[in-house]
Amino acid sequence: MSTEPCQCAGKEQAAFTPRPIVMCGPSGTGKSTLLKRLFAEYPDKFGFSVSHTTRKPRPGEVNGKDYHFVEREVMLQEISVGKFIESAEFSGNIYGTSYRAIEDVLASGKNVILDIDMQGVLILQRQLASGEQKLSGKPLFVFIAPPNVQELEKRLKGRGTENEESLAKRLDAAKRELEWGLKPGSVDAVIVNDDVEKAYVELKTVILS
Ligand code: ADP
Ligand code: 5GP
Repeated sequence: MSTEPCQCAGKEQAAFTPRPIVMCGPSGTGKSTLLKRLFAEYPDKFGFSVSHTTRKPRPGEVNGKDYHFVEREVMLQEISVGKFIESAEFSGNIYGTSYRAIEDVLASGKNVILDIDMQGVLILQRQLASGEQKLSGKPLFVFIAPPNVQELEKRLKGRGTENEESLAKRLDAAKRELEWGLKPGSVDAVIVNDDVEKAYVELKTVILS
């Protein structure tokens, strides 16, 4: 990976040292929205760690790009043989980051970005604390918060991806994630996504500095 100063147009010309960036925050808070912008603006700088999931694809999601969509039995078997750096059950589905997902991004010379839930972050943080760091370099943990839970619910409903049951599960998880993420010391940076433009500028400031 290059450690040269950013050559991109705009204000972010200061040098930055690539390191894994771990994005987290409640489902529906806007992580994918912000990351889409980032990958569009910096296609050569950042690469997405494509997770595995047992969740069914949403309309428009592409296997191998958004996720590796797999059956539960396959995922459980692959977890048991140590294919994943971390994995967790979220809202009735299993999600996990494979070693391969990270290696693929690093091999392309880009800085890797993960989008994972609180449980996954806690696993990575425990690995770090015990000296079993499995990512290359100390990660930067960034929590994307919604302005409030009512707005989060509105966004999740507006996205049109959830049924009543999965919406309730995600909102339930969101409350726990918010309590954790907003507690001082849980992550390196908290960005409140009340306005996408503003949140995106803040995200760039955090990860390019
Ligand atoms: P996540 O990846 O965190 O689950 P998404 O990026 O899918 O969240 O965003 C959830 C929904 O909220 C999407 O429909 C998206 O367009 C919308 N959204 C994202 N950011 C904002 C914002 N700042 N204001 C209003 N709606 C937003
Ligand atoms: P979604 O189903 O909305 O795509 O994702 C649900 C939640 O799973 C989000 O909080 C997302 O960050 C998280 N997630 C996605 N991939 C992974 C992963 O590989 N590991 C973990 N622990 N969580 C993940």
